[in-house]
Amino acid sequence: MITFQNLAISNPLYNAMEDLGFKNPTPIQERAFPIIRSGKNVIGISQTGTGKTLAFSLPILQDLKYSTQDTPRVLILVPTRELAVQIADQIELYAKYMTVRVLKIYGGTNINSQKKAILSGCDIIVGTPGRLYDLIAHGTLKLKSVSKLVIDEVDVMLDLGFRFQLNNIFELLPSKRQNIMFSATMTKEIKALIQDFFIAPEEISIAISGTPLDNIKQYTYSVKNFYTKVNLLSHLLQDKEEFSKVLIFIDGKRNADRVFEKLEAEFGDELGIIHSNKSQNFRLNTIERFDNDKIRILLSTDIMARGLDLEKISHVICFDVPEYPENYIHRIGRTGRAEHVGKSILLCAEYETEARLMIEKLMDKSIDEIEFPEGVEISKQLTPAERPVDYVYKNQNRNTKGAESGAAFHEKKDKNKKTNQGGSYRRELAAKYKKPKTRGGKKKK
Ligand code: ADP
Ligand code: MG
Repeated sequence: MITFQNLAISNPLYNAMEDLGFKNPTPIQERAFPIIRSGKNVIGISQTGTGKTLAFSLPILQDLKYSTQDTPRVLILVPTRELAVQIADQIELYAKYMTVRVLKIYGGTNINSQKKAILSGCDIIVGTPGRLYDLIAHGTLKLKSVSKLVIDEVDVMLDLGFRFQLNNIFELLPSKRQNIMFSATMTKEIKALIQDFFIAPEEISIAISGTPLDNIKQYTYSVKNFYTKVNLLSHLLQDKEEFSKVLIFIDGKRNADRVFEKLEAEFGDELGIIHSNKSQNFRLNTIERFDNDKIRILLSTDIMARGLDLEKISHVICFDVPEYPENYIHRIGRTGRAEHVGKSILLCAEYETEARLMIEKLMDKSIDEIEFPEGVEISKQLTPAERPVDYVYKNQNRNTKGAESGAAFHEKKDKNKKTNQGGSYRRELAAKYKKPKTRGGKKKK
């Protein structure tokens, strides 16, 4: 087995590895090291918990020369604030015996202290796109010296929700730079996008995208509906010894809040919740308390826990079946990290069977079913989404999940094609004076 010495890493890095108790590089670390050092564009795909953070940090730190230059040379983009904090903290540990200034930049906190930190100089920035862009637009953060760009969790980062912000950042980066991208899963669409955006990246795949780790034992229950799932949860969670540290994923903050309200009475001070509507302090604080075993059960939405490395989680419970099978892989990947063993439980209602089959197809593996325990009450209560559609009033102005909106199926009649252009008198005036007339002065407030 190859050791860190075989990789010929510098002494300061080697000593940091010793301090952390890391003896052997993981396969992705070993493979990525020479390729990233060669300066090529790279996409690295390796399962959850296999040490991708160190895989990109090690070669970057190895080649980062000491400098007093104030503008950053490495930019690491991540999807969430929590991940920015975690990755920056890890890099600081790896660079413990080097002089490297690492800065985390994320929203929801005081922008002025971040401005000050940037102005006092840094080498590596780890940040989320939104706040980074604000600081760039403001003129505080200058990207002209960035020669290496890392995008962690690249599949979610290039997804529609982030793409606009990323494009803005890409435009301001020097075009001569190395692009380094990592994820545990990769879809065809994202791969195509990467080919469009970046020149000929070399792909390092340790496992086929979507292969889960063998050290995660996966189970599933067939459960009637949402509120029966809540009943099952409260039944399972009563076993504190077995379910010693549980991360529960729920699709959407509203559903997460619903489950939280139901479980609160019973598990109050053992229970935490994070989603994007919670304040930044609350989020970081809740994760820290979960990581330090101050709370036993954490409810989370999908994006919030992407990439997070949390101390030995006993169970990941998927309260619902994710619409995109990749998300299941990321959910269960919060356990079984760094070769520990973990368990995952998928709660699947009948209407989610198809989504479950898609996951099994992606993994090329079926999930063992456990019989629904006797004595757990089957609820008759239905959520708005579970009620039969025919008599539910559907608000046409709302784009509900899964509903496709598109053009009307008939041509508009001529009279309906007209657009409102204001009164004819105003149009006459406008034509005459060649500028729009407004009624009264528009005062600036
Ligand atoms: P990934 O990004 O692939 O999901 P992380 O980079 O978060 O994984 O690392 C997962 C865990 O493995 C972390 O706790 C990290 O400290 C640990 N780890 C990373 N590299 C090694 C190594 N070479 N030996 C032992 N543990 C490691
Ligand atoms: Mg990671």
